[in-house]
Amino acid sequence: EYLQRIGELEPKLKSFLCVTSDLALETAKQVDEKVASGEEIGVLAGIPIAIKDNMSTKGIPTTCASRILENFIPSYESTVTQKLRDQGAVIVGKTNLDEFAMGSSTENSGYQVTANPWDIERVPGGSSGGSAAAVSADECVVSLGSDTGGSIRQPASFCGVVGLKPTYGLVSRFGLVAYASSLDQIGPFAHTVEDTAILLGAIAGYDSKDSTSLNVEIPDYTQSFATDLKGLKVGVIKETYSDGLDNIVAEKVNQAIKELEKLGAQVKEISCPRFRYGLPIYYIIAPSEASANLARYDAVKYGIRDESADNLLEMYTKTRAKGFGAEVKRRIMLGTYALSAGYYDAYYLKAQKVRTLIKQDFDNAFHDVDVLISPTSPTTAFKAGEKTDDPLSMYLSDLMTIPVNLAGLPGMSLPCGFDENNLPIGMQLIGNVLREDVLFKVGYAYQ
Ligand code: GLN
Repeated sequence: EYLQRIGELEPKLKSFLCVTSDLALETAKQVDEKVASGEEIGVLAGIPIAIKDNMSTKGIPTTCASRILENFIPSYESTVTQKLRDQGAVIVGKTNLDEFAMGSSTENSGYQVTANPWDIERVPGGSSGGSAAAVSADECVVSLGSDTGGSIRQPASFCGVVGLKPTYGLVSRFGLVAYASSLDQIGPFAHTVEDTAILLGAIAGYDSKDSTSLNVEIPDYTQSFATDLKGLKVGVIKETYSDGLDNIVAEKVNQAIKELEKLGAQVKEISCPRFRYGLPIYYIIAPSEASANLARYDAVKYGIRDESADNLLEMYTKTRAKGFGAEVKRRIMLGTYALSAGYYDAYYLKAQKVRTLIKQDFDNAFHDVDVLISPTSPTTAFKAGEKTDDPLSMYLSDLMTIPVNLAGLPGMSLPCGFDENNLPIGMQLIGNVLREDVLFKVGYAYQ
């Protein structure tokens, strides 16, 4: 049924870069056989799931929506997809993204532009736009995205679904194609908080193949659900109510906060004074890491090669000039500049220091409250093409999500209403390190 729906919707929606029908049907059949023979099946057995195309899947193209990886078929499986397969999850395909996860609208894909299911003239957000749109349009039940500065939460908010970026290190990054390694995390999209919690439980956990993986016990997140929030302290981040925030977004998030109060939560205003430096700091740190990570596309080990080159240097430059899109090139240049001798201290090192100050703001806040709230994004979904010529205005989409990555904290976007055009609005819940359980508790009670 899901494959059929994908077939019907894809000509307009374009969420998928590749639909893995054979694998899906084969897995579904295996699950059926297990059920028939009375064998035990995993919690995700038979559940149709889509995977952002920057996670390595053995034998299945993994392009990162980049032309440079047009012909790349990995020889190994990422830890998250291995876990899903082991549990009998039915992978229905690989979803579209902004090239190498750089963007906020999925328009930076080297292949296609994904539509927002609520209004196909509009973008689904990004960079995990394909994964958000696919869940929103019921092309799958749940999906995986990756979030470096907001790439799960912002598209979740634009598409009216739940999206969670876990604590840094909770989910293995082995097999996730690196964009900015100190910020990247894989996380779930779903319609409900319950499904989000189940999927997180299925992919989280220590992995010796990821040196930043946390060696912690994974709780049963569904045990954290509650129907009231008595005694819970909620902090509303003052600084997120600033210029550029749509009135209707502020209004709906405020309404949601009132609901939490009705459920018993104590609400107070919290100041994170250095929150606003998150965006400029991110655009030093993330491109710096990207410039190093993307050096591996040298036309030798992976992907396409320009055959017209006469020598090695020309092979690098011609291949990279042809294979990378404009935004990726922009970031490689920014990062290379920020890391170069003479500029490192002024930009990169300073950015790292401010990153620590942002973390301190959060630490201070969590002395007072259990969970923080803000809008997920300042606006609802914008029209395709509206911001493509203005990278700076595009970057502003992630104003409220980026500080969470810089501090390594968990953040979840939850639908909280609609604007006057019937476009979904999302609110962001931010938890302390490894307190995903608190996000689920609040989200479940609210939803
Ligand atoms: N939109 C942000 C960017 O362009 C965040 C991307 C992400 O989280 N991968 O970098």
